[in-house]
Amino acid sequence: MIVKMKKTATNEHYERLVAFLNDKGFEIKDVSSEHVRIFGVIGDTATIEPGDLLAFDGVSEAFRIQTPFKKASRTMKAEDTLVRISDSLTIGGDQTVIMAGPCSVESYEQLDTIAQAVKAAGAHVLRGGAYKPRTSPYTFQGLGLEGLKMMRDVADKHGLAVVSEITSPDLLDVFEQYVDIMQVGARNMQNYPLLKALGQSRKPILLKRGLSATIEEWLMAAEYLLAGGNENVILCERGIRTFETYTRNTLDIAAVLAIKELSHLPVIVDPSHATGKWHMIEKASLASLAVGADGLIIEVHHDPERALSDGAQSLKPEKFSVLMDSLRELAPLLGKQIP
Ligand code: PEP
Ligand code: MN
Repeated sequence: MIVKMKKTATNEHYERLVAFLNDKGFEIKDVSSEHVRIFGVIGDTATIEPGDLLAFDGVSEAFRIQTPFKKASRTMKAEDTLVRISDSLTIGGDQTVIMAGPCSVESYEQLDTIAQAVKAAGAHVLRGGAYKPRTSPYTFQGLGLEGLKMMRDVADKHGLAVVSEITSPDLLDVFEQYVDIMQVGARNMQNYPLLKALGQSRKPILLKRGLSATIEEWLMAAEYLLAGGNENVILCERGIRTFETYTRNTLDIAAVLAIKELSHLPVIVDPSHATGKWHMIEKASLASLAVGADGLIIEVHHDPERALSDGAQSLKPEKFSVLMDSLRELAPLLGKQIP
């Protein structure tokens, strides 16, 4: 961290700040010139906020030169993290992993129909929300535990893994029992009690980017999981809120590139929530793979008009199957394979 003092700063201002930082165990490396008093703070600066130093008299600027996330950073770990889902499925290596299924689990028959279709098309993981964090309390809230059990049954029947959203630390035991990947939804990306609880688990976590989260805030949320000891973290870009309203969210395709530079963690894309429009899913998926996404999570429904949530962004099984064909053509060109 670099600190620059104001021209008007006195020696006493400088010494008070240095004493404070020394007290916290930091070393000071003074690089002042005759015109400006400036120094580096050496040590584990992730534990202090540069902005907090402005509370000291005489401080003009303070900024980081290292990222505040340590365990999530590529500087700390150069090689890509591989998250093992099953004996045959790993996210973050040369496999492109496809998760597909309805937004919400609505009934056994609905889930079974969709699971059968996505499996036949080549998907690996069944998605489906049982605990739904809906914007309106008056819309379908999910089937809860019953829905989660259906996810397990149906996925086992069709040879798929399970990803589903966990909304509270109280649910950790049941999620440990029934799912293979625990999804943290966009609305819960900064739910710190939830992140801390999931940090204690060793199950893979799919951490969605918050509605208006910066890349740094997203990686800091991942840092909570890693700091707790759970290294099985998969990031998911699902679109962010911008001034644009034509699409449901704005797919931040460059975020995939940024994550690959900044972090060793795998990153997948959710083109369904990012665009909100079923006819945009195929092209957005291909673009996501092209920039290096390790996989996709896609909403599929056999009867989108009657879906209890997110019908407008759900692909019908036939369209999903066409998309899988396109992905299978693209993946080898990118040095990836779809298992
Ligand atoms: C979902 O996956 O259905 C969902 C609610 O996603 P998000 O948290 O990204 O809005
Ligand atoms: Mn949805």
